[in-house]
Amino acid sequence: MKVLKFGGSSVASSENIHKVINIVKQRAEKSKVTVVVSALGGITNLLLETGELACANNKFYKEKLKDIEERHLKVVRELIPISNQSSVLGTVKKMLNKLENILEGVFLINELSNKTADKIVSFGELFSSYIISEAMKNKDLDVSLKNTQELIFTDENFSNAAVKFKETNKEIRNFFKQNETKIVILPGFIASTKKGETSTLGRGGSDYTAAIITAAANAEILEIWTDVSGMYTANPKFVRQAFPIKNISYQEAMELSHFGAKVIYPPTIQPVLEKEIPIVIKNTFNPEEDGTLITKISSNKNPIKGITHIENMTLITLEGSGMIGIPGFSKRLFDALSQEKINVSLITQASSEHSICIAIDNIDAEKAKLIIDTEFVYEIEQRKVKPLLVEKNNAIIALVGDRMKSHQGISGKMFSTLGKNNVNIRAIAQGASEKNISAVIAHKDVKKALNTLHSTFFENQIKQLNLFVVGVGNVGSKLLDQIKSQQQYLIDNLKIQVRIIAITNSRKMLFNEDGIDLNNWNTPLENAESLNMDLFHTKIIELNYRNSIFVDNTANENIASLYADYLKESVAVVTCNKIACSSNYSNYLNLKKLSREYNAPFLYETNVGAGLPIIDTLKNLIASGDKVIEIQAVLSGSLNFIFNNFNAENSFYEVVKQAGIEGFTEPDPRIDLSGVDVMRKILILARESGLKLELDDIKNNSFLPKTSLDANSVEDFMNTLKKETTHFNKIREKAATNNCRLKYVAQLNNGNAKVSLEEIAPNHPFYNLEGSDNIVLFFTDRYRQQPLIIKGAGAGADVTASGLFADIIRIGNN
Ligand code: ADP
Ligand code: ASP
Ligand code: MG
Repeated sequence: MKVLKFGGSSVASSENIHKVINIVKQRAEKSKVTVVVSALGGITNLLLETGELACANNKFYKEKLKDIEERHLKVVRELIPISNQSSVLGTVKKMLNKLENILEGVFLINELSNKTADKIVSFGELFSSYIISEAMKNKDLDVSLKNTQELIFTDENFSNAAVKFKETNKEIRNFFKQNETKIVILPGFIASTKKGETSTLGRGGSDYTAAIITAAANAEILEIWTDVSGMYTANPKFVRQAFPIKNISYQEAMELSHFGAKVIYPPTIQPVLEKEIPIVIKNTFNPEEDGTLITKISSNKNPIKGITHIENMTLITLEGSGMIGIPGFSKRLFDALSQEKINVSLITQASSEHSICIAIDNIDAEKAKLIIDTEFVYEIEQRKVKPLLVEKNNAIIALVGDRMKSHQGISGKMFSTLGKNNVNIRAIAQGASEKNISAVIAHKDVKKALNTLHSTFFENQIKQLNLFVVGVGNVGSKLLDQIKSQQQYLIDNLKIQVRIIAITNSRKMLFNEDGIDLNNWNTPLENAESLNMDLFHTKIIELNYRNSIFVDNTANENIASLYADYLKESVAVVTCNKIACSSNYSNYLNLKKLSREYNAPFLYETNVGAGLPIIDTLKNLIASGDKVIEIQAVLSGSLNFIFNNFNAENSFYEVVKQAGIEGFTEPDPRIDLSGVDVMRKILILARESGLKLELDDIKNNSFLPKTSLDANSVEDFMNTLKKETTHFNKIREKAATNNCRLKYVAQLNNGNAKVSLEEIAPNHPFYNLEGSDNIVLFFTDRYRQQPLIIKGAGAGADVTASGLFADIIRIGNN
């Protein structure tokens, strides 16, 4: 005989029940089949809520009851042919009347004991098993219905009763000995006491029912049919990359389910384990998939089988110097908890015995505080122990595997993975059997922790980078193009998956948790919600993805002011916006400090020389112990373009105008021509060299005439350039007579920085600088005579985007 158990989602609707019937029919062709069914998905909760409403004297319970009625009647109408419907509808309605009477009683006396609640919820499984058996009969299957309450007997611990195995096993064996139908349907979850009162086996208990039947009847296999294709390496609802475990041992399955993998209810395995009957977890909606086979020994060699978690945990800590060396503290603590039936999920005690830390369910938090503070009232008064510390909203996360004990370094890897991703670990427990290592973390970190651990222990080490991109103008859109064409290469060669989770322009912001399709983002962005940078921040923090990167492609001061808020949340910042690094020194320093403290990279290579590796080179020199003596550089692609094209034929005014048209200057050319842009760049290089400089400390001998410097608008400014033709021509002619070319040069020497227009002689490395190229000469301790030179295209959207991309990949490679 085979035992098949179908969970709530498998029998949630007539459509699903059809699938169940097909599976049962196919199985029944080969052997006898016992089918254990849960209540229709969601009904157990609805029944409990209805009971609670009635108990609270809330008439709304009747509406809920109506919902329950409707759901069942609908399923009957859809499953049973009209000719046979009336008798089935009649029986269901009779049962509904009974339920209504009980609820009315609860409403009148305002009392809902566990015993009555069990009576109420039992209807869920009674309805489902009856309806499904009738549906099968109508398909001409050889089927009978048996009420499990006549087979499984328990104590009187209503809502979570303990099974009396002797009587139960005997009754089950007797029943199957005389049963003749091919298929037997049984309601799961429900049982009865010696007195014949209804009891239940605890939430999720239908699995247990099936296991009890399997073991007692010595069935060949127990099949648990659910809505996922087996026991996964982690809850698939949290970890997209999780996959079904092919084979797992009873012990491992027990640990996994105990720690939250609710595919099977924890005690389920015990009865089948003793008889070594295999269990298989299958998907009702994908029956052809293998699922998970649970056996005595697993053939799977991976020391870790899965990662699980339990939410809604409270950490309670009893602490005090008075506990040291005095026996009996833990006993009193645990006795107090057990008297109140508070379940303990995890315990850790410091070897100093100074404190004991315990994880319990959130619902028990207040109760625990009260009873423990009462228990230790004397010691608290004497200041030997502190009042119980209660911290709610935590979660336990656990690695599970039989073979962990023979592998070293697993816990180290687990904790360093969590640490690197800034998941704070509150408590740790590892059983001596080393079948699981558990840690208590904040609830908000669960998703991130599961995903990073999963990627460390189960994935082919593909590192996922999650990008939040602000600004999709010239540079931003080029960056998206480059990422698009390189995505597959990065996965194949660097094992880095780059996902764009959000993009914004100046009006809108678009989020897609699965990653934005880079072939089609323009229209979705236009149709997306309005830009709100506060909301943008909140969403990123809520998503709490590992390796989150905030990418700033703007030149906007307000955006630059947000970096600290991201770094503080361990979100990396990559930016081509120079404003933050050239703002006041304390802000620059603070960002660097936050970056270190929160393990969040802050990269801004493109602030100087676009894609040229200038800042990175400087950082490496400094990190390896070199000292900067002098820097000479041409750092403005715009000014280089302007002075390269300024000649007798083209007036200065004409050239600046042309540079603007070709996109070589900022929309406001004053930022370039005043030298501010270059000042910012040399300031950043000075700071990276270890100097504490402010923008005001940089000398700027402007080549502009006073009238241009005083201009109030771009238009005024351009007009002054036209009027001052003689001024500019004089500068040009003087250079020509000296056989020199004009370059706008930034210098750092002896701790002093300046920017100025210089006449450059033919033998100087700057003389032949073309187009909008940049060049930097680093004179350092190691490069005293011959400087280290970096030269190349230093402006333009393409090279800037590729510089940003390189920073992003740097994070991926880290
Ligand atoms: P049923 O109603 O069939 O009894 P449950 O809801 O009790 O189903 O259990 C199945 C659910 O268990 C899945 O939908 C999934 O969300 C959850 N789950 C948690 N951890 C795991 C895991 N490691 N593998 C598979 N499912 C898991
Ligand atoms: N219907 C019960 C519950 O929801 C039992 C089960 O489905 O296993 O807890
Ligand atoms: Mg279940």
